[in-house]
Amino acid sequence: MLQVKNITKRYTTGDFTQKALDTVSLNFRKSEFVAILGPSGSGKTTFLNIVGGLDHYDSGDLIINGKSTKHFEESEWDAYRNNSIGFVFQSYNLISHLGIVDNVEMGMTLSGIPASQKRKRAVEVLEQVGLGEHIHKKPNQLSGGQMQRVAIARALANNPDIILADEPTGALDTQTSMQILDLIKKVAQSKLVIMVTHNAKLANKYADRIVQFQDGRVVSDSKPYEEKELHLGYLLKKTSMNFFTALKLSGKNIATKKWRTFLTAFASSMGIIGIALILSLSNGFDKRINEFETDTMSGFPILISQSARTFDIETMREQQSEMLGTSAEGDKYPDAEAVYPYDASEDSLVHANTFTQAYLDYIEEMDVSLLSGISYTRLVNMNILKADGTTVKRVDTAALNFTAYPAEPEDGKVGYLKSSYDLLAGHYPQEMTDLILIVDRYNKVDMSILEALGMDASAAEIDFEDILGYQLKVIPNDDFYQQIDGYFTINPDLKNIYDGDDAITITITGILRANENTTLEAISPGIAYSDSLSRYFIENAQDSEIVAAQKEADYNVLTGEIFDNETVTLTDNTALSGLGNTRSNLSSSLSTVTLTKENMLSMLGADGTPYLITIYPVDFSAKEQITEYLNAWNEGKSDADTILYTDLAATFTNLSGSIMDAITIVLIAFAAISLIVSLIMVGIITYISVLERTREIGVLRALGARKKDIAHVFNAETFIVGTCSGLLGIALGYLLTIPTNTILYNLTNIENIAQLNPLHAVGLVVISVLLTMLGGMIPARIAARKDPVEALRAE
Ligand code: ADP
Ligand code: MG
Repeated sequence: MLQVKNITKRYTTGDFTQKALDTVSLNFRKSEFVAILGPSGSGKTTFLNIVGGLDHYDSGDLIINGKSTKHFEESEWDAYRNNSIGFVFQSYNLISHLGIVDNVEMGMTLSGIPASQKRKRAVEVLEQVGLGEHIHKKPNQLSGGQMQRVAIARALANNPDIILADEPTGALDTQTSMQILDLIKKVAQSKLVIMVTHNAKLANKYADRIVQFQDGRVVSDSKPYEEKELHLGYLLKKTSMNFFTALKLSGKNIATKKWRTFLTAFASSMGIIGIALILSLSNGFDKRINEFETDTMSGFPILISQSARTFDIETMREQQSEMLGTSAEGDKYPDAEAVYPYDASEDSLVHANTFTQAYLDYIEEMDVSLLSGISYTRLVNMNILKADGTTVKRVDTAALNFTAYPAEPEDGKVGYLKSSYDLLAGHYPQEMTDLILIVDRYNKVDMSILEALGMDASAAEIDFEDILGYQLKVIPNDDFYQQIDGYFTINPDLKNIYDGDDAITITITGILRANENTTLEAISPGIAYSDSLSRYFIENAQDSEIVAAQKEADYNVLTGEIFDNETVTLTDNTALSGLGNTRSNLSSSLSTVTLTKENMLSMLGADGTPYLITIYPVDFSAKEQITEYLNAWNEGKSDADTILYTDLAATFTNLSGSIMDAITIVLIAFAAISLIVSLIMVGIITYISVLERTREIGVLRALGARKKDIAHVFNAETFIVGTCSGLLGIALGYLLTIPTNTILYNLTNIENIAQLNPLHAVGLVVISVLLTMLGGMIPARIAARKDPVEALRAE
């Protein structure tokens, strides 16, 4: 049944070669008790390991049931050990962190026997070896004799044909030894038992046959056997350990060193904690920014100016080149030591928007439900007079900060004024002739405005009542200007024209202040008028004498000067000067406009085309729809006919978003360093674990575990550590968001900035598992490659 033919095994250490077995030939019967005797170092253990498939011969052959093992693959040897061999060692070699039932079951687990069947069989063999009452114990709760009984039960569990016992009684006293040998003889009645011993007395008493070894050779055999050539079919059932078994094995091992595992998991969770916190913060900030966008940025209007040459030229260029499908010419930040002259007026990126009537109609047709208001800024200079007691004076509209307010929606909805400004006195504007006074957050009004209105600017305070009802008059061009010899001057009899029938009385009917939700008000403090007033004035002015004369003349009809590139300060202020940092840029670009004939005509009211259109969206999504609507106009238009707008909020948002992203990436990079450190640490700890579990590796291999299975065992260990550290990291990271939020609340007054996104949490646990498993990969491979014979010898 088992034939050993001329087997030779050499061990080479350095340049010394030891012949552990020297052409050994032995045949064994299917059922006999063979004792191998011989001095220490004679090759007995080596012989047993080779017969058991734990070690491999150099030359010769091992024939099992007529089948040569010369061309066995690794997996066949694994299956052979598992199916056909039961090992019993001198030092028992039980896996100490498993219960004795689990120890006995291990071989069956490896050959994939179902759990209930396994359990039944394990209990059966434990009862057979006389341990029926001890099945709930762990190995270290048993005596030496009892442990050897467990080892015998384990060897029997898979019902192998061959039991190999290497000095099974070597560590036991004589009486226990005899009990063990009785047991072996009894349980192995129908099996081949090969037992190594140095006790000749016991061998003579129990064995059927005694083989003597010396210097790697067989020197005597009490009962030789000559086997006829047999060719029986020999089927091996392949072994494998599933990941769950590996998990259970490592889980129980880890349970014996809880503190170390906890500390390892804690240390390697540091990186996860860091990243979790950083992600929570950036997540929270992102949310805040989005809320800010929706709440506040939606209050940022969309601007469409006749001259798109405005404030943030860089952003404008990018937006525009994107919209126009052109790219900026030349290199950005060139290295050349030269400057490149270009014609700004012909620069396609500085775009002149030409407002045609069709475009103005298109704007008018925009879905009103998207808008909380639209205001038009026109260059027209309305002729405004005030009566100061008995004298009548011109009003310096520049000093008034004279601005057009957006018309309220006609359907009675809450428009921009009502949603962004609180009414302090009077009423929101209703009539064309209604003026409003806008005060700042402290109810302050610039002295120059009050002085321009003719009020006592030196007073400590002025009652609302004294302001409400204050009247000014708008004078039509034909009353305001008089013609003398083709030139025009302002009629000096102001009192007369003030009282004239055509003068339009405009009245301050409301005092408004930006409410607390409005962080950036679009109408700056001062006096604001309705757009219908300027339209009314323009309609009237178009037929006026001065306009007709100016249309004819190539010179300025007021001064007689030929038009030149002279600049003039606009009397009409922009509706946008409240926009934070852009204010100074804006007002400087808008308040200095070249006084051309066209501008002169605009100022006189000859042309109703607005200079600037300001659109106030109701909310953030409306803003997106509006920009889509505005983009739709440009579809299929030539470059010259496209109308470009500026979305200030988009500029701000992009900026804040990309800054957050950059900060997040930098911080995560720092935290990632601690992840790498923990990767290395897990590698070291797993390696230590491999060293500690060397014997277990040997036992598992002897029971038929494949190299792969051993790697699985350690991968399972790192899987557990990785999962623990990931969960711990997430838990601690989450807990840390609480004090972080408290601190940030005290610093910034913003609640709950740090918020851990559940998706991030799951992702981080997965990353932690993957990284720790990566860290343990090399030690797991080392474990898998360990020679089982050496592993079993390890202390
Ligand atoms: P026994 O079990 O009869 O005491 P062994 O089979 O353990 O003897 O050893 C036989 C010989 O082979 C001894 O001389 C031993 O030193 C040598 N030997 C066994 N294993 C190794 C090894 N892994 N490396 C080198 N020499 C070895
Ligand atoms: Mg030995």
